[in-house]
Amino acid sequence: MDAHPETAPAARRPYLVSRGTASVRVRSYDVVVVGGGIAGLTAAVGAARKWNVALVTKSSLDDTTTFLAQGGIAAAMDPVDSPELHMRDTLAAGAGLCDEEAVRILVEEGPARVRELEHLGTKFDRQGGQLVLASEGAHSVPRVVRAGGDATGSVVASALVDAMILGSRVDLHEYEFVIDVLTEGKTCVGTLSLDTEGA
Ligand SMILES: Cc1cc2nc3c(=O)[nH]c(=O)nc-3n(C[C@H](O)[C@H](O)[C@H](O)COP(=O)(O)OP(=O)(O)OC[C@H]3O[C@@H](n4cnc5c(N)ncnc54)[C@H](O)[C@@H]3O)c2cc1C
Repeated sequence: MDAHPETAPAARRPYLVSRGTASVRVRSYDVVVVGGGIAGLTAAVGAARKWNVALVTKSSLDDTTTFLAQGGIAAAMDPVDSPELHMRDTLAAGAGLCDEEAVRILVEEGPARVRELEHLGTKFDRQGGQLVLASEGAHSVPRVVRAGGDATGSVVASALVDAMILGSRVDLHEYEFVIDVLTEGKTCVGTLSLDTEGA
């Protein structure tokens, strides 16, 4: 698959798998998203607001790590909580192994991303209108939002899949294994994938 077939020949560098370019089926999109977990689905739904998008995944959309996640999503949603406190707890639990910049992005953007997931259709558990916040190890305050009890991952993934289908601007390619990224200089111009027939 190639995002820009007209520029594909310029992207000649050895493929990981030896094959003639004549047998490569070319499809053209503005954006190719690889992966159908929470990251890929969110990227596809967002990108599809502006561009035509392909989502490529090597398996089915319910065969992801995201689908298996149970415990919930930690984010400083409570007024008594804060990104600073979440950061402190995370760095303490990480015992020196954390990438601080990554943790900062996680704690600062987390609440907005949870609200975005809700906006896209995820029904997080609520009681009396308030989000139910669960306590988990290493968190000094209740901070974990859940959906469907311990079915958080599958509830989030299903809502994102529905949002993607509703938007209908994402072309879904399940069971396609991306084996190479085609580049021009430092720019990615496409991906190369194998389907179940090896085509
Ligand atoms: C049992 C379990 C419980 C968990 N519980 C929690 C929890 O409670 N809270 C929490 O925050 N996190 C939890 N996690 C971790 C969380 O699930 C992951 O961090 C998160 O789902 C990762 O999302 P992702 O979109 O990055 O990856 P994934 O959901 O793994 O998606 C990766 C996607 O990429 C596709 N892919 C990969 N390589 C290729 C390729 N070459 N070509 C085409 N497609 C490809 C896969 O098929 C898949 O669709 C848990 C994980 C597990 C396994």
